[in-house]
Amino acid sequence: MKAEIIAVGTELLMGQIANTNAQYLSSGLAEIGIGVYFHTVVGDNVGRIKEALAIAKSRADLIICTGGLGPTQDDLTKDVLAEVLGWPLVIHQPSMDKMTEFFANRGVPMVESNIKQAQMLEGSTPLANETGLAVGNALTQDGTHYIVLPGPPREMKPMFEHEVKLWLQARIENLLPLHSIILKFAGIGESLLEHRLIDLIDGQTDPTIAPYAKEGEVAIRLTTRATGPEDAAQRLRPLEAEIRSRVGEFIYADQDVTLEEFIVRKLGDEGRTLAVAESCTGGQLSDLLTAVAGGSGAFVGGVISYTNEIKRQVLGVPAELLEGEGAPGAVSRETACAMAECVMELCGADYGLSVTGVAGPAELEGKPVGLVYVGVAVRGQAVTAVELRISGNRPTIKLRASKSALYQLWQ
Ligand code: ATP
Ligand code: MG
Repeated sequence: MKAEIIAVGTELLMGQIANTNAQYLSSGLAEIGIGVYFHTVVGDNVGRIKEALAIAKSRADLIICTGGLGPTQDDLTKDVLAEVLGWPLVIHQPSMDKMTEFFANRGVPMVESNIKQAQMLEGSTPLANETGLAVGNALTQDGTHYIVLPGPPREMKPMFEHEVKLWLQARIENLLPLHSIILKFAGIGESLLEHRLIDLIDGQTDPTIAPYAKEGEVAIRLTTRATGPEDAAQRLRPLEAEIRSRVGEFIYADQDVTLEEFIVRKLGDEGRTLAVAESCTGGQLSDLLTAVAGGSGAFVGGVISYTNEIKRQVLGVPAELLEGEGAPGAVSRETACAMAECVMELCGADYGLSVTGVAGPAELEGKPVGLVYVGVAVRGQAVTAVELRISGNRPTIKLRASKSALYQLWQ
């Protein structure tokens, strides 16, 4: 079973709204074991909607259209489908009665064009609209299933949950739900990760392996079709073990948690506290840490020491590290170490974490853009620092530097 989702609406093509319907439907279909192979977006145009339907028919067995069920001139989906399939449009009387009542209650006249919303393809299954007026449709022709849903998410979602799922389950045999596990990685980029696993990714059928990167983190989703959680675990475990044997040192969690959530919770569980001293990240590291709900116990605070004066006067970084003949400079291993240690003392924390680097666009102290040092101070141990080379523009470097700092702490 291959599904395609066709979102109809010129406003989608113009970028005025995002195609969240396709996202919602894809994940909903996955839950009942139907794989979506294509997302199509097409404008409110008869010729192009026909074209999209023809292409979809050639490559999918289930075609779900959303949008274009309203009363206006540009709402065309049902008319086009009726024409393409050669099924006449008829009035769905319960929807018509509901609409008549709706307008009567409001004391507004019902105009001719509204009738369209109560139309359905003759012989199809009407899909009730709990939150709107336009009736949906489901039908099968020559082995291809067609489903037509309204565009507004508040109408489309209940219709999918309460009507479409049942309709599909009654028609399609052996629907096995998809089960996934997520592995979260830190300290390794998406391309290197993919490179290390490329033979597994290329050879996949079931389970499938999907690497993805977002907001400075990399994750892998392993997915299989299974009758239940135990069956799924049996299918997924060998693959997970193989991945762990290759890149296990970079996996920090086997669930969908961010690195900052993971660290804040871990510190909280251990009853330890963390303070940070930030230079080039300008507070972003603190922002990540404070975005974690209930993290106040673990993260105590810190200093945004963007200038050398603040590094010296507030943190207490020795002046000879920062400036003058032979000084390593603000962007250096030595300064990162001093910042981490100073902020740990200043805040009375168990750990001190520091970031100092060049976020760009220009060089600093003759040092290249993307050079970042992360210092880690642990009470009772020698302070350490690592040098990182981070690529990207200014916001990317700031985010990656913040995540990399968390990664150093986790290690
Ligand atoms: P209406 O009766 O409101 O006209 P409709 O079924 O004709 O509903 P459209 O006219 O295509 O649907 O879209 C109406 C609104 O629904 C859009 O302005 C948008 O807010 C939302 N919408 C439509 N398609 C999508 C989509 N693919 N993803 C998210 N929202 C959408
Ligand atoms: Mg409309």
